[in-house]
Amino acid sequence: MGIKIMSMDRPVKSFAPPKRVLMGPGPSDVHARVLAAMARPTIGHLDPAFVGMMDELKALLQYAFRTTNELTIPVSGPGSAGMETCFVNLVRPGDTVVVCANGVFGTRMAENVRRCGGDPLVIETPWGEPVDLNKVDEALKGANATALAFVHAETSTGVASDAAALCALAQRHGALSIVDAVTSLGGMPVEVDAWGADAVYTGSQKCLSCAPGLSPVTFGPRAVERVKTRGGKARSWFMDLDLVMGYWGAGARRAYHHTAPINGLYGLHESLVMLAEEGIEASWARHAKAHRALRAGIEAMGLSFLVPEASRLPMLNAVLVPEGVDEAALRARLLERFGLEIGAGLGALAGRIWRIGLMGQSAVPANVLLCLSAIEATLGETNAPITTGAAVPAATRVLFQDV
Ligand SMILES: *Cc1c(COP(=O)(O)O)cnc(C)c1O
Repeated sequence: MGIKIMSMDRPVKSFAPPKRVLMGPGPSDVHARVLAAMARPTIGHLDPAFVGMMDELKALLQYAFRTTNELTIPVSGPGSAGMETCFVNLVRPGDTVVVCANGVFGTRMAENVRRCGGDPLVIETPWGEPVDLNKVDEALKGANATALAFVHAETSTGVASDAAALCALAQRHGALSIVDAVTSLGGMPVEVDAWGADAVYTGSQKCLSCAPGLSPVTFGPRAVERVKTRGGKARSWFMDLDLVMGYWGAGARRAYHHTAPINGLYGLHESLVMLAEEGIEASWARHAKAHRALRAGIEAMGLSFLVPEASRLPMLNAVLVPEGVDEAALRARLLERFGLEIGAGLGALAGRIWRIGLMGQSAVPANVLLCLSAIEATLGETNAPITTGAAVPAATRVLFQDV
């Protein structure tokens, strides 16, 4: 069946996505409750019922970010839109911003600074290592920087940097901190108020396990002050927080800026309700346990990690591809046989690592065991020197015996 559309060589009909298990760098598996919420009837974006839901959403985001910041809202757009919102609102032409780059996303932050007319002072750390605090301290000393920008959880490498220490360094040098918490939020501690972080953004599709397309951000008092005193208009009309807050701000009067992605916001609301029901600390613990179980299995198989344990992320596991294995062929086979998606390496790490995500709803025992047995079964067909039969028992011990 289907209908004939001019340029399509096959009939077009309703799209039915195949069943998948999402264990890549995002999106993660979306719970049926979130999908059901998104399928509810669309209402007006100025409807009082919708405005009431927005207020709950802001409170739920404050809970997730561990902040009392009033300016805590979901930006309409994916994580990259949250990133841009921070830069276009805080960086003026001519400003110096110290940017920590230890993977793909730090590099993108530097590009954001450039596009705002600012001057990024890029502190490079080798991919696979956390941001070097001493180098950042040195750079901030002489820079008179407006801001320090860094990625808390580098999804391209699986590395966690010391966000608390970096925020403290920024404060000590009178710079605002701009923090990428896209991959970390919900899966490991992100303590906006305790860190004194000034502007933090995240994404809906990683550890929050919502559909992609929304980017929660939170701005603290110093960042809000900067928006007010920056001078000149933000270089993006769409992301200008002065305008956006006319719609998202407190009070019953909401001015139209752009039509909110109504159904997407229902989904984010539901995923945050689920996070609050579980308790955010319990969610962190679940991610940590899933990681420990995966690690036990990966190591029992004889494989190893790119990143040393001390700076390893729980939700993004960079596993070294054994010598001589065609990593893309293995991923294709996992997808075809098991409906299992894992990620490839990026940039210098392409072909060298797999990125196994344990984000949100994907950080559950069934996924860990599926992933280990699927990799073992598939790698076992190659000449890779792996140990078989040990991974699942090792992971099972962590999941169900070491309480
Ligand atoms: C995924 C990701 C982003 C970008 O998010 P999109 O939703 O893909 O735009 C930014 N930073 C980090 C650390 C990420 O993992």
